Amino acid sequence: MTKDTSFSQKLLHWYEFNKRDLPWRETADPYAIWLSEIILQQTRIDQGMAYYIRFLDAYPSVNDFAKASEDEILKLWQGLGYYSRARNMHHTAREIVSQHQGHFPADYQSLLRLKGIGEYTAAAIASIAYNLPHAAVDGNVFRVLSRINGIETPIDTGQGKKQFTALANELLDPQQAGNFNQALMEFGATLCTPKKPGCANCPFNTSCVALRNKTTESLPVKKGKVKIRTRFFNYLIINDGSHTYLSKRTSNDIWKNLYEFPLTETSDKKELHQTLVESQLILPQNAKIEIEEETPWQKQVLSHQHIFYRFIYLKIGGKIKLPSSAIKVNKKDIFNFAVPKPIEKELNRNNWL
Ligand code: SF4
Repeated sequence: MTKDTSFSQKLLHWYEFNKRDLPWRETADPYAIWLSEIILQQTRIDQGMAYYIRFLDAYPSVNDFAKASEDEILKLWQGLGYYSRARNMHHTAREIVSQHQGHFPADYQSLLRLKGIGEYTAAAIASIAYNLPHAAVDGNVFRVLSRINGIETPIDTGQGKKQFTALANELLDPQQAGNFNQALMEFGATLCTPKKPGCANCPFNTSCVALRNKTTESLPVKKGKVKIRTRFFNYLIINDGSHTYLSKRTSNDIWKNLYEFPLTETSDKKELHQTLVESQLILPQNAKIEIEEETPWQKQVLSHQHIFYRFIYLKIGGKIKLPSSAIKVNKKDIFNFAVPKPIEKELNRNNWL
């Protein structure tokens, strides 16, 4: 691995002429930077931008964010996925107000102590808001550095993280830490892309090891593949005149604190009859059940889980016995609740109301 002393100059020069116009690049407000960084984790820029603007409009400061209820935050976050990000942000906003008088800590270590803020985000906020010399190493940075230097250490290992972070810190221009970090990430996001990188227009194409060795496709190296869990969700939509029922997901699982229709999780795609038998908790045996509609199975792909789901519309004669977590909801109020993607899609498909 060689250190190219002109690396940061070339990179910053490229950035000056090629950076995209993005709203969070116009601010040094740590709150706005934090918001953009958390939203953009696992989210495409075009989708994230709409949420960023929406959140800043609704909550212009960390104090406003902290004052909101968690339900309000989750509702505004709906559709972005990875809801623990929103819950952690809410927790952190409240901590900043109660422990730091509403001001973001201005050093890397204190930022790192906040919930939901890892090394990457702490470095991004410290460098962009306070110009402190900490390299922010995200997936783009791993890719660029592994290709330019031909590094084959797997990026998903402790050793890989250490090696790439040390190299990024060595290359960082301490006078322009925020710009350097943004430039390197932008370079990876728009030029040194995972597939078909723009090597012909790259300022490093005379020294890039991966280009020379024709290994751009195989770098960066990843060691382990994520194990995927497959689950089967049967949602029961109970027609009780102008009302239906929702439950809040409270356990430490996907979509925590979002609302959903009463759920029966089965071990595979069970017959409808078997599903209803397994949902005894919800439907007493003597109830008269009319099945109004049964949707086909659909699939929601999450990073570590594949969720197969369907909706069963039921009309039930007699008193309905539901788990204590269920609440009776007026159908026209249902859009006020933060719900996971499958439920949102079903409400839109079915012209709810
Ligand atoms: S030459 Fe190609 S692979 Fe190498 S850094 Fe430039 S864009 Fe990436």
